[in-house]
Amino acid sequence: MTTEAVRQRVRVVVEAPQHSGLWGALDYLSEVALLPGELVRVPLGRRVVTGVVWDDAPQGEASLWAQADLKEVAEVLSGLPPLPRTWRQLVAFAAAYYQRSLGEMALMVLPPELRQLDALQWQRRRKRLDKALLEPLPAATPPTLPELTEQQAQALDALAQPGDQPCLLWGSTGSGKTEVYLRQTQRALDEGRQVLIMVPEINLTPQLEARVAERFIGRRIVSLHSALTPAQRLRHWLMAHLGQADVILGTRLSVFTPLPRLGLIVVDEEHDPSYKQQDGARYSARDLAVYRARLEKVPVILGSATPSLESWFNALPVSEGGAGRYQRLAMPARVGDGVMPRVRVLDLSKVLKPTMGQEPPPVAQELLHAIEERTARGEQSLVLLNRRGYAPVLHCSDCGWKSGCPHCSAWRVFHKQDRTLRCHHCGFTERVPRACPDCGNTDIQPVGRGTERLEEQLAAAMPNARIGRIDADVTRLKGALEAQLASVHAGEIDVLVGTQMVAKGHDFRRITLVAAVNPDAALFASDFRAAERQFSLLLQAAGRAGRDAEAAGRSEMWVQTWHPTHPLYQSLRAYDYPAFAAKQLEERQMAGLPPYASLAMLRAEGKTQEAAQAFLKDAAEAAKPLADALGCVTLYPAVPTPVQRVANIERAQMMIESPNRAALQRFLTDSQPLWLDTAHKNRRNGLVRWAVDVDPLSI
Ligand code: ADP
Ligand code: ZN
Ligand code: ZN
Repeated sequence: MTTEAVRQRVRVVVEAPQHSGLWGALDYLSEVALLPGELVRVPLGRRVVTGVVWDDAPQGEASLWAQADLKEVAEVLSGLPPLPRTWRQLVAFAAAYYQRSLGEMALMVLPPELRQLDALQWQRRRKRLDKALLEPLPAATPPTLPELTEQQAQALDALAQPGDQPCLLWGSTGSGKTEVYLRQTQRALDEGRQVLIMVPEINLTPQLEARVAERFIGRRIVSLHSALTPAQRLRHWLMAHLGQADVILGTRLSVFTPLPRLGLIVVDEEHDPSYKQQDGARYSARDLAVYRARLEKVPVILGSATPSLESWFNALPVSEGGAGRYQRLAMPARVGDGVMPRVRVLDLSKVLKPTMGQEPPPVAQELLHAIEERTARGEQSLVLLNRRGYAPVLHCSDCGWKSGCPHCSAWRVFHKQDRTLRCHHCGFTERVPRACPDCGNTDIQPVGRGTERLEEQLAAAMPNARIGRIDADVTRLKGALEAQLASVHAGEIDVLVGTQMVAKGHDFRRITLVAAVNPDAALFASDFRAAERQFSLLLQAAGRAGRDAEAAGRSEMWVQTWHPTHPLYQSLRAYDYPAFAAKQLEERQMAGLPPYASLAMLRAEGKTQEAAQAFLKDAAEAAKPLADALGCVTLYPAVPTPVQRVANIERAQMMIESPNRAALQRFLTDSQPLWLDTAHKNRRNGLVRWAVDVDPLSI
């Protein structure tokens, strides 16, 4: 028998970007029998790359080649159990749904380090892991559990009934949702299953990790997020894949972790935009979690105080105009009879006197007094401003110069701490000029206010208060966020200034006042989701106050606004999420927007705005017959994006809408090859990049 005869043809998925036109798998020859899901190293061009054996992958063009032309698999990463069938199904679904190539999706969701190891390096790594796994876990002494509230008990009863619907756990901030997750996790662990708990932000993982570790002593708990070192990430991923980790806590990328004993998925703060990847393969980890749960027949809990309108609609009974697809479990009460802080909407037009040419103070007198009272009582206040830096722009009043970014259609932000002008879009940074670069005037002034300036102004207004700040600038250094949070918890800070970073998740015990000092911008934003996001942020922020039941009664949430009668603030005042949601849904239905319609965004980047738009127009033209044939797909005109130039690249987008999700999918899939062709032709004319964003979050 010749060796030819025993060599088998195997199909391998390798990383190939979408634009290469290589969508399916490549064929190789192997001397050993390979199982689907095994990792192999294969030659690709001049390189050797990692790939996944995928027997049922769609045929790539190379499959048509004759056996004699095929290359051989270079090596196998043996000792790694094949990636399970459900994992491959999830990845294949994600690739198809989000319009990416299978190879890109499959390789992207593996730990980066795994993709780089050859067989020998892999063996060494594997041995080290085995050694680490021999380390004994601490002995288990069961922790004392809090007695469940009535609502928690009800929710858990409902969760104990086997059903195949996803659950939306709609609970106020501080209603004890986490306790429900933990109890349900315990049930799954008792049955010998693994649990995947997802959180939107890395910042929130250490907190939850501590709580989970405390609860499940004697269990192996691993985290998965992008702040881990490559080696840690590989180790944690392997422990999950080998079935050795019991609880996996992670950010959006963790949704793809292969888990042989998966028994429960929890998506905490399911409404959070961080679950949607914003570049490359723009997947929604929340939506994929729901898909995965169905695929693997395990329960999924989506938790939030302010669910996304999509999830809310899915959980609304058909009789109330919803889709009735999810089970809704409500926990409106806070633990320990705590009440939500009283909302005070402060009408700025009544309290701020017009100041000629001067900027108004950051907080009105009443608010200042309220904060000072807290400080005097030893309580803490949180002042929220969703804009970092000192001032969003510098301005020369002599000649009108402004601190624009030379590379973007945006202002550069003044950061006083290191005296820089920084572009938050492209990162371009320069020292602040001493004088106006255009006319030499030395008196250039900051316009507007960011957290840095707010901190400075509050310190000046309240010399006796200890002011602290948490935003992406303060917390850039590793450990800085933890340190700053610790000093808040230790009571070393009276007034905490922060961006949305502090509004979410943190369990502050001494905050009795939260103030949003400039929340109006979202009321008039062009993005139809701006109101939803703002409502959620404000409610989330309010939830930081009065978490101690004893202080809850005197806790307040202040909103400074020029539009006190706006329905958003009215709903907030009553903590009436259903009313807010109902109003939003009504508007969405009339406008034909999600959740009543499905959207996709075709995005283009070009050397000029014309180039970006020309591609979109050509793409629309090429795909129009498909849209016409389907009859229910609408292509909108190409427009510049809100910030149209970033790093000297012009950006434009075209919205595609359909009331029928399947039709939109069909349209996108059929359009892809046409658009590849269109892109190819437009490249000479200055098209740089293009992408499809399915279920886009920012419009
Ligand atoms: P949520 O996630 O809904 O915002 P948490 O789960 O963080 O709420 O609970 C808020 C606080 O209440 C936490 O400090 C938690 O330890 C506490 N807690 C939760 N459930 C109970 C309970 N049944 N009895 C006493 N305290 C509880
Ligand atoms: Zn000037
Ligand atoms: Zn810039």
